[in-house]
Amino acid sequence: MVQMQCSVCKNHCSLEVEENDGIITVRGNRCARGDWFGREELRGERKIVTHRAATVFESVPTVSVKTTGPIPKELVFRVIRAIRKQKIDRPMKRGEVLIHCPLDLPTDVVIDSDELENL
Ligand code: SF4
Repeated sequence: MVQMQCSVCKNHCSLEVEENDGIITVRGNRCARGDWFGREELRGERKIVTHRAATVFESVPTVSVKTTGPIPKELVFRVIRAIRKQKIDRPMKRGEVLIHCPLDLPTDVVIDSDELENL
């Protein structure tokens, strides 16, 4: 049994993921996306990327961002490099797209925080 935290949304549910005879069971998820997240993580082929992007604002120098879906593990560091090149210079809402389809992947990098909303 593997314990992990679902990072798809801000609830960050604690998951218990187990594989028996090729059948994967996920517990602790509050929704179907958590079930899917646990399975993908256990298979270990794809990963949601979470990181912090730089801003120009002194009060919030960095802000949490994440990919909207899992990406192949071998591309994680290239996506992180793309995030590191960003310098946010305007208020942004949670879920707003920071990088559209990095590396032509079918996922976006979005803001995962409320900190930039009321600057
Ligand atoms: S299981 Fe569902 S509710 Fe819980 S963190 Fe994952 S996506 Fe959010």
